[in-house]
Amino acid sequence: MPELPDVELFRRYLDRTCTGRVIQHVAVNDPKMLAGVTSEAFAARLEGARMLASRRHGKHLLVGLAPAGWITMHFGLTGVLAHWEGAAAEPRYTRIRFDFADGHHLAYIDVRRLGAVGFVEDAEGFIADERLGPDALDPGFDFAAFERALSARKRDIKSLLMEQSAIAGIGNIYSDEILFQAAIHPKVPTDRLDLDARKRIFREVKRVLETATKRGFGAELRPEALPHTFLLPQRKKGGHCPRCGTELRAAKFSGRTAYYCPHCQRESA
Ligand SMILES: [Zn+2]
Repeated sequence: MPELPDVELFRRYLDRTCTGRVIQHVAVNDPKMLAGVTSEAFAARLEGARMLASRRHGKHLLVGLAPAGWITMHFGLTGVLAHWEGAAAEPRYTRIRFDFADGHHLAYIDVRRLGAVGFVEDAEGFIADERLGPDALDPGFDFAAFERALSARKRDIKSLLMEQSAIAGIGNIYSDEILFQAAIHPKVPTDRLDLDARKRIFREVKRVLETATKRGFGAELRPEALPHTFLLPQRKKGGHCPRCGTELRAAKFSGRTAYYCPHCQRESA
């Protein structure tokens, strides 16, 4: 599932390939992918508009338009973007296609159809409506803000990190990596973390997400691009801890599977 680093890479890709181009035509192949807007209204607002630089908040990508408004994109479990130039056929599973006046195209592709695309007038209003917490890599999201997010919710640390209304951008995969790097068991309740543990987790939120983003590929697309000290390349059944070699253990968290090292991440610690 695309998380903050993946969506940040989509954002840079979109900016590199589409910024400044004028949308001539929008093909909504699957109207169910649109959130809160009909195909007709979506096309009417987009056709003739120019794509401006985009921004990201958590796992959401927002594409600014001139004269006004924003396209919103969420990538669900399998969403990706693809740009091409010329008359080539659209990629398989293209749900929405943006045709630009200069012969370029952008496809929003989603095999599993759990993502969503929309149109809003105001980016800040959208973030508030979606009840998104601060973006995990926003410089304004500092240790004091992290402490506020923790103290407002009493639950296990893994679920807290994945809660988008607390901190936006982290999902199942990166919460595993952050807790591995901080040497914290995923099931530790937030109110049992001492100051040192909280500081370690906060530091790893920033370091893990920045490292994955800097390496240039989403971890799910190319986990071998990550440092060898990371859990993610080993994050599978039968995988081994990159630190101590112990076989990783899996645990269920509200339907999702967490991976951790039972030696390096003690529940009692
Ligand atoms: Zn270990």
